[in-house]
Amino acid sequence: MSRLNALFLTLAVALGLALLAGRPPAPRPADAPTEAFSAIRALVDVGVIARSPHPVGSPENAQVRDYLVLRMNALGLSPEVRPDFGFRRIDRVSQPVFLGGAVENIVGVLPGRDRSAPALAIMAHYDSVPNSPGAADDAAGVATALEIARILRAGPPPMRDVIFVITDGEEAGLLGAQAFFSGDPMARRIGFLVNMEARGGGGLVQ
Ligand SMILES: [Zn+2]
Repeated sequence: MSRLNALFLTLAVALGLALLAGRPPAPRPADAPTEAFSAIRALVDVGVIARSPHPVGSPENAQVRDYLVLRMNALGLSPEVRPDFGFRRIDRVSQPVFLGGAVENIVGVLPGRDRSAPALAIMAHYDSVPNSPGAADDAAGVATALEIARILRAGPPPMRDVIFVITDGEEAGLLGAQAFFSGDPMARRIGFLVNMEARGGGGLVQ
């Protein structure tokens, strides 16, 4: 084989591997083993959260909040709704833009074996934009967090606390996250965070 042919073959194999790696795994059914992540189980929550548009401050968002508190209670996460005020200043070239508003983050904890170790946080946001039910952004992320919680509950206690931070007002300018990380004492306990923001437009969720 000539060196040029070898190069093309290598590139073709690399491209094939890259395409394979970018494909999401097939969804597991609702009767998948307890310790497995089931997209079909998680889809039930997506259906409830994304029933209708539910922007921050709306009655529909309050319904989603109440549903999530129920779900997180059932998962043993002792959820707390944290009324807060998010405020951000964005420096634009011409003049700064100020964003602010009342938010209600939901925070739950799955206690680990070492309560003093830096905690792992799993984060997603439950509000949607005003003109979309937000199934992908970010009901999918919230439902994924709940399915992760279910799996962790089914096994032995994790090494460290896992804190579930379900924020509000993300679509209004990351207001819930801003409020939580600037003022909530719980935020200081977090050592590592996984933020599940909108399922990808294609390929694996980043
Ligand atoms: Zn989002």
